[in-house]
This record gives sequence, C-alpha cells and structure tokens, in this order.
Amino acid sequence: MESVGENTATEIKQLGGENAADFGPENQAPEIRKLFTYIESQRARYITTLREAVGIRSVSGWPHARSESIRMIQWTATKLEALGFTVDIRKVGDETLPDGNIVPFPPIILATLGDSPEKKTLMIYGHVDVSAATFEEGWESDPFVLIDYHGALFGRGSADNKGPLLGWIHAIEAYQKNEMEMPVNIKFVIEGMQERGSQGLKTLLEASEAFVTDISSVVVSDGSWLGKEKPCLAYGLRGLLYFFVEVESGTKDLHSGVYGGCLRESMPDLLFLLNSLVDAAGNILIPGIQDEVCPISVDEEEVYDTIEFLPEEFRVDAGINTLSETEKVKLLMKRWRLPTLSIHGIQGCFSTPGALTVIPRKVIGKFSIRLVPNQKVEEVEKLVTDYVNSKWAERGSPNTMLIYTASDGFPSWTSNPLHENYLAARRATAMVYGQFPDLIRDGGHMGNIWTLQDITKQNILLLPMGAADDKTHSENEKLDSRNYIEGTKLMAAYFYEYGNIPPAEQ
Ligand SMILES: [Zn+2]
Repeated sequence: MESVGENTATEIKQLGGENAADFGPENQAPEIRKLFTYIESQRARYITTLREAVGIRSVSGWPHARSESIRMIQWTATKLEALGFTVDIRKVGDETLPDGNIVPFPPIILATLGDSPEKKTLMIYGHVDVSAATFEEGWESDPFVLIDYHGALFGRGSADNKGPLLGWIHAIEAYQKNEMEMPVNIKFVIEGMQERGSQGLKTLLEASEAFVTDISSVVVSDGSWLGKEKPCLAYGLRGLLYFFVEVESGTKDLHSGVYGGCLRESMPDLLFLLNSLVDAAGNILIPGIQDEVCPISVDEEEVYDTIEFLPEEFRVDAGINTLSETEKVKLLMKRWRLPTLSIHGIQGCFSTPGALTVIPRKVIGKFSIRLVPNQKVEEVEKLVTDYVNSKWAERGSPNTMLIYTASDGFPSWTSNPLHENYLAARRATAMVYGQFPDLIRDGGHMGNIWTLQDITKQNILLLPMGAADDKTHSENEKLDSRNYIEGTKLMAAYFYEYGNIPPAEQ
C-alpha cells in the first residue's frame, strides 16, 4: 500500500499530459463506437431491468423479508449465468433475531467469466441489498416501484447499488451481443448484506483462495460524484472509530421531585464529558490527535483547487444553515483530509416529546471520529480513552464511567490514482463525458474496502456512477438515466482501456 499525501498530489499534477479531446469520438476505436451505439439503443430495456431489480425488496435490515434478499441474489445469479459466468452461490450462515428466530443471511455470489492467462483479471464488487425505505420516511412514490420522472429514475437501490451493478452486467452483455471478445477476465463478488456490515464476506473471501488469487485490480462502483455534472474517480476514504461513553448513578430511574438534589446525576456528568471533546468551532480538544495527521502540502492544495465543487450548492443540497468553512479547498480538506469528531446521541435519556421529570440512572453518549492518513486506530483509541479518563478525574464525580469502542474501527484508506486501473477509467470517462474526471476522496468509509484490499492486495478503483444528489440512503433515492446509460458506456470503455493499457510506471 502506498501512503498518500504529498507524493500523490505531486503525481496527480503530472496527469496533465493527456488531453481529453484525444479520446473524443473521432479518435475512438471502432469497437468502442459500436459498443456505445449498441448501449444507447438498449436504453429502454436497461431501465426495465432496473425496474425489475428495484421491485425486489432486498432490504438487509428487514430480516422478516429475508426471502426477498435471497430472491435478489438468485435473480442476479440468473443474469450472470445467461452471460456464461460460472456462478458459485455461497451460503454464509444464519442470523439469530432478538426474538430467537433464525433466518439465513443472503448468500454471496462469486462468479467468474474467462480464465485467459493473457488477460488481466478484474474483480468487480457490488451489492444487491438496499437500506430500508417506507412512505413514512417521506418517499413521494412507492420506493419499490421504479418511476422515470423527467430523466430521474426514482426507486430504492436505483443508485445504491442495483443501477451500477446492472451497468457492469449490461456492459459485458454489450460485448457479447456485438460478438466482441471481452478484453479482461471478470470475477464478480456480489453480496446482500452490505448495508449491515457485509456479514460473512470477509470469512468467505478468506476461505476462497482459488477465487481471489490472480486478481489484477479491483473496481467498486458505489458512492457518488462530488457534484451533479462532473464525473469523478475516488482514491481515498476516511476511516472510522466509534465510541460509547457510559455514566451510571444507580440502579433505578428516579423522579426529580422526590430525589432531585440527593445524588450526582449521570446526565450532567455525561454532558460535561461530551462537551470537552470539541470546541465551539468543531476543533477536536483531545491532545495529540493531530500529531499523526499527514501534513497537507502545497501540491495537495493546488490539486484540490482544480476540483469542481461549489460549497454553496453543497450547503443547499445538504440542508445546512451555515457551513463551518466556505472556501472550497478548506471545506474539501475538512471533508476528506482532516479528522473530525461528531456526537451522535445519548441512549437512556428521556428523548420523547413531553415534559417528564425523570432522572436517568444510566446514560450512554455516542460519538465517533473520522480518521485520515496516517492516523492509526489503536493510537487514536488510546488518546481518546486517556483524555476522557483524565476529564473524568477532573470532574470528581462519585458515579461510574466507562468508555469503550463500539467495534474495531477502520483506518483511512487510499489507493494509487496513477495506477493503470485509474488511468483506464480516466480515459474511459473522457470518451463518454468529453472530460477527465476529478480525482477525489470520500469522507465516509466502506467497511468492506479493507476486506477487498487485504485479500487481493491489488489496486482498488472507486468508480461512482451516480450524482451527488442521488440521496442513496434517504427518501426519494434516484439515479439519473443519463448517469445510468452513460455510466454503462463508461464501464464498457473501461474494460477496453484496462485490458489494453500497459502497466503504468509505479
Ligand atoms: Zn452501496
């Protein structure tokens, strides 16, 4: 793994040598033009297929509807078999529900097409589960019925991740329908539990040695562009470390009229601790937390300055009243390149409407830190724990306090954007959109990125299909049909470029 920071920025600047116009229609290989014409002609059918996929309620967070998730996996497997894939549907165990019932996790698809030793082998990761969706959340149409409204395809999973996954499938089909040889061997990993922590994925891939060897590169088409117009490739994700801090004052919730004044209450103690984590401007107050952060170079600032991003449009789309930073480069640094701490909630406190006078016996505060290069999970965990303990000592409360992490956490992740995998996608983007993509990072984390990285040890490309306003996890999710169709062309061109590009000098 290459470390990212100054070097990457310096090298990204050197990408300026190519000209997007050199990849325009007049310079494209006849095969590419044929593929594009064919894909364009299939628009209606592609949308119908997406409608079928959206109609399957594969919500991984609805165990009562698990049969739908399993049906979705089978539906996808059938599509791959039709293209000649060898499809392995692997069971990954069961889930025990709170009521004691046991339901199977959706199986995971490992599928292979081609084994030519002359070709590179591309691993494509995708997921067919979706987040929950109901009318109560504010959907204006049935989330499981795809509707085409002025070119926007509304429906749960249209953008995350059924549309992009179908893009790959249709791109491969386009080669076959045009009797063109696939330029690469393909291995698909498709799961149905991504939105709930990719249950079973790591264990399965670790046990599937034959499947994961000889992978040349990995591509993931999840996530979205930075804005609505300009395509992007992402080469970095922030990590995540999530904390629980628990304060307990006794064994019973009490009434303030009877007991108020008789004890040191847990809630003010917790608020004191939470309030000592960040200052009013959002700066993290934990000493030493910035020490490991990779310094930001002049080159990096210059690279960020070339990225197309409008802070005001971002503000409006996100529904934020006032941004903490309005300057483009600084705001992008805050989203991708600097650690941030967010306080998410308090469990055990009175949080429903009304004016109850309870004194809670135990409250659990929840906060998380987004990690950046080169912060290490264990070091940050120790700094936070030591700091909260010292604050607790300062507080001098007789109550008990416990701080612990919710899970193992993930470090930040970065890829080499100068790898042939990225260069191929960059050229493919120029062929379809007439411009090179912005090279961006993403502020969030994908838990499974480290699984893919650790297991394949190869370059991973994040190739988003949809726009920034697709609302992938909220109400009225959509994928613009433009992005769906052009994105499919891009995938077909990327296969071509990646298959033919010589390994870049690394
Ligand atoms: Zn996704």
